[in-house]
Amino acid sequence: MLRHLVELTSIVLRPEPLDQKIERHCKQMWEEAPCPDCGETNIKAGDSSPRLWCTNCRYTFTYTRNTPFEGRTLTPGEILIAFILYADTLLSINQVAQLFETVYDTVHTTIREVEAAFERGFHLVWTEFQEDADSPTQIDETGQKCSGYKGQSPPRDGLSRGGSGEPGRSRWEGAPGDTMTLVGACRDTLRVLRAEDGAKPDELRQTLDEVEILSGKIEELWHDGWHGYVPLVYENEKVVPHSEEFVTDDGVHVNQVECLWSLVDPWLQKFRGLSKPGLEQSVRTYGFVRTLNLAGAPLGGLIDCFAVNLFH
Ligand SMILES: [Zn+2]
Repeated sequence: MLRHLVELTSIVLRPEPLDQKIERHCKQMWEEAPCPDCGETNIKAGDSSPRLWCTNCRYTFTYTRNTPFEGRTLTPGEILIAFILYADTLLSINQVAQLFETVYDTVHTTIREVEAAFERGFHLVWTEFQEDADSPTQIDETGQKCSGYKGQSPPRDGLSRGGSGEPGRSRWEGAPGDTMTLVGACRDTLRVLRAEDGAKPDELRQTLDEVEILSGKIEELWHDGWHGYVPLVYENEKVVPHSEEFVTDDGVHVNQVECLWSLVDPWLQKFRGLSKPGLEQSVRTYGFVRTLNLAGAPLGGLIDCFAVNLFH
């Protein structure tokens, strides 16, 4: 049905306003960045051309340089539309691809590659954006199946941990049905989701370490008292044993993470099985996109996350 609507031109994407917004934003970022050639901060941009130039050494280049929008078939606005439909709706990448004139593989590859840039950028943008928080952090864990890819473009290895963007292009051929544990942590509007091999204390700690990198030292940790949390020592730990109750008398709960599970479960189902690195990358994206929405900075924050890559 969706394909028919597209064929009838009842759904037409208009990326131009987004293209302009992204172009303005990237140009502003470049005006504060060092020249890629001489290193001086003397970059200038005009309104009528996508080119920028260095007033020191006369070097010229396009605003998409160093951004995830560089050298793509899709325009920056189209990339943002595709990414938002992928990350913030229940549409599958296959359905998203139908809205574009490009082939499925191009849309799939573009989404997965800009996703890695988004995760790198989120860390830079959020730590600038967010004051250190002193509110409690909730953590919870769950089991999640993931299976090897079936017939789609393979996910790229090495992108999920914020790598260089020049991934090893090895094809992942994992056995179907590997079980990963999803670990979720919530603190104010911050949502950190990770897929780990298991739920050992050092695997749970990765998630809490990331919370600390993004929003400062954890003073108070709330969890459900599961034995995996016992070796994690934080100054102040409060436990809500789920066999007995969901909120303690003094208000301790992990309901924010429970809410996150109820949202991410149906979202993950659209993939119909993910490779291990695919699952790792997807759930991190979901947590960070949810964070931007909850923080009330969805679109501007998202563009920031992509554009900040030009400093690297
Ligand atoms: Zn220069």
